[in-house]
Amino acid sequence: MAVQRTFSIIKPDATNRNLTGAINAIFEKNGLRIVAQKRIEMTQKQAETFYAVHSERPFFGELVEFMTSAPVVVQVLEGENAVLKHREVMGATNPAEAAEGTVRKEFALSIGENSVHGSDSEENAAIEIAQFFSGNEIVG
Ligand code: UDP
Repeated sequence: MAVQRTFSIIKPDATNRNLTGAINAIFEKNGLRIVAQKRIEMTQKQAETFYAVHSERPFFGELVEFMTSAPVVVQVLEGENAVLKHREVMGATNPAEAAEGTVRKEFALSIGENSVHGSDSEENAAIEIAQFFSGNEIVG
């Protein structure tokens, strides 16, 4: 297994409920190291670009509105097999289908307000990290 980096967002429903630390504790307990982290207000343009792959989906407008409704915490996580590990720890997109012990099972409010984002491939992780971090902000 290789050490990888992945991109993570703690979404507005979670920052609103003061869950940043609780979610980070789950990541760290599962071997994911936080090597970059900042709290930002995502702009409309950033949210539209980030979720461009979903621009034709019926939920796109709501998703952009949600992601810009309150601060988010953007992160780079590092660890063995980090992309898949993070996806496992997050749980299924729909919290009703998420496994016990996952972040979304524990905290997500709905399929839209589902507390966390995680990259779905190493290639997308690199693209997403570059959208929010410069190289010198990542300290491994
Ligand atoms: N989403 C939504 N309604 C849906 C499907 C997705 O609002 O029916 C939102 C949800 O916040 C999700 C994001 O769009 O996390 C991206 O969807 P994707 O299918 O890529 O899920 P993820 O990779 O986040 O599990």
